[in-house]
Amino acid sequence: MEKKQFKAESKRLLDLMINSIYTHKEIFLRELISNASDAIDKLAYQALTDENVGLSRSDFVIRLAVDKDARTLTVSDNGIGMSREEMEENLGTIAHSGSLQFKTEMEKKDDIDIIGQFGVGFYSAFMVAEKVTVVSKKYGADEAWQWESTGADGYSLSPCEKENAGTVITLYLKQDTDDERYSDYLSDYRLRSLVKKYSDYIRYPIKMEVEEQRPVEEPETDEAEDKEPKYETVVEDQTFNSMVPLWQKNKKDVTEEEYQSFYREKFFDYEKPAGVIHVSVEGAVTYKALLYIPAKAPYDFYTKDFKHGLQLYSSGVLIMENCADLLPEHFRFVRGVVDTQDLSLNISRELLQHTRELKTIAANLEKKIKAELLRLLENEREKYEKFYAAFGRQLKYGLVSDYGMHKELLQDLVEFRSDKEGKLVTLKEYCAAMPESQKHIYFATGSSAEQLSKLPQTGMLRERGFDVLLLTEQVDEFIPQTLRTYESHEFRNILTDDLDLATEEEKKAAEEKSEEFKACLDFLKDTLGDKVAQVRVSSDLGSHPVTMVPDGGMSFEMEKYFRTLDPNSDYRCGRILEVNPEHPALQALRASIGADTEKAQKYAQLLYCQGLLMANLPLEDPTAYTDLVCEMMR
Ligand code: ADP
Repeated sequence: MEKKQFKAESKRLLDLMINSIYTHKEIFLRELISNASDAIDKLAYQALTDENVGLSRSDFVIRLAVDKDARTLTVSDNGIGMSREEMEENLGTIAHSGSLQFKTEMEKKDDIDIIGQFGVGFYSAFMVAEKVTVVSKKYGADEAWQWESTGADGYSLSPCEKENAGTVITLYLKQDTDDERYSDYLSDYRLRSLVKKYSDYIRYPIKMEVEEQRPVEEPETDEAEDKEPKYETVVEDQTFNSMVPLWQKNKKDVTEEEYQSFYREKFFDYEKPAGVIHVSVEGAVTYKALLYIPAKAPYDFYTKDFKHGLQLYSSGVLIMENCADLLPEHFRFVRGVVDTQDLSLNISRELLQHTRELKTIAANLEKKIKAELLRLLENEREKYEKFYAAFGRQLKYGLVSDYGMHKELLQDLVEFRSDKEGKLVTLKEYCAAMPESQKHIYFATGSSAEQLSKLPQTGMLRERGFDVLLLTEQVDEFIPQTLRTYESHEFRNILTDDLDLATEEEKKAAEEKSEEFKACLDFLKDTLGDKVAQVRVSSDLGSHPVTMVPDGGMSFEMEKYFRTLDPNSDYRCGRILEVNPEHPALQALRASIGADTEKAQKYAQLLYCQGLLMANLPLEDPTAYTDLVCEMMR
């Protein structure tokens, strides 16, 4: 018999388990049963195409047994089993999916968190057992192997006898302490309630031979009434779980708690989901689905490591773990299961994605997901905001992707920060709050909402009671381009587009003003030369003297972006200086033209610099500007 050491990280996890003060030690049973069920799934799947398996669905079973004298609890299954190498690989190392996360999270977490987060699986047996043996025979193999460990000092492997494929795990329970009664796990009553609590939806029967006291049936006699009823002990093979997977049940028979614990156990997310979607469809394609909208993003959600997709069952057999074709990219955060009998089981994965049935299901689910998100948005806003903080970016990506193909579907789900409300609003809400005189949807793009709020353009709009959407995420910039309009209102970028605020009369008045002001505009242009492409009158400026707007379609934001990429970038938008002829500063300029040309030229330089400052653009020569200001103050 060989003695082997655990891999280092396994050993740390194991130490945690052995010394665990975790209060829900009972979950070990759920973990072992779930492993057994997975092992059966694998063999059941193989049985579909391999006649030699010789087992049909009804032959599969998970069995519990206890030996009170030996203080052992046994969990066995007739699933796929493990070869010697697999035992070593799977039970000697942390081979499960959580291992990578475990490594990185390990330092920060205490043991309770680790157990909660990763569902540590097999090793949890060591929370209640001082010794564990695993006897397993791989399907198709001739020999069986026994793995044995008392935890800390490694494990041993030895050949053994076992008739059929499958795995038998025996736990030698720890001695009871003042705080913990491990012998509870020898009670069929306790075991039954644990199965009900954690594993009721396991699709294979979880059976146990249970001793029952039964009244003995005796032939009726006259004295029968005086006699004490007699009891006998009978051994009955009972099935503890109802086996109906949660998604197969009727909605009305499922409690909130059941939905949540299912989610927790299946998807290892200990945060309550924001929404649950349970559908049962009969028709062209018949299927059941149970979907969850998570409330927080997994740590790897926005990386390429994140595997999205729904679990696909066909007639109760898991055929695909992450069926991506069931979920559109924009809803890739959704977790859940789909079960249908309408798919041929031995269809290849390549063909599967093209089947009409799958497409129909995917299209229906997309609608259901949208409806649930809208319901949250309208009726449970707080939950929606939490969801949106985690996945809003994904919805926006979805909206702008594929040339805007999904915009109809997603435009009512996205939110932007509102200048007026100081919180996130939907486009619908924005439009509903528009004053009658407002024609367009105004937005500004930049890196900080605070800065965008302080822009003169934002201020001008605010003065009129118009709201501005402050777009601060990179993807935001593409949304107005993609949508173009919402409820037939055009999007207007307040930094680059004509705000179109003036009424016809005001425009006319501005034109007249321009005529009247022409000499002044010409003077500014002559003085500033190539620094500006144009100088013009604007009736949008409210109480501000000047602003700078870009010439042509590009925004100053874009110019700044290029400069962050390459500080020497000579990409530069043309600058248009807009002036407010009503403003005293412009009046002063006008008065000095002709009277004191030198002073007027200085005023022109000052106004130009102020325009740059207002547009949050760098001054070409800050020293010259301050000198000029100081000179004017003398
Ligand atoms: P996880 O279940 O998260 O993968 P575990 O530590 O519970 O992690 O189990 C590790 C691996 O050991 C499983 O992935 C599986 O390959 C194998 N295993 C555990 N229990 C059984 C079993 N009853 N039958 C077959 N293989 C098993």
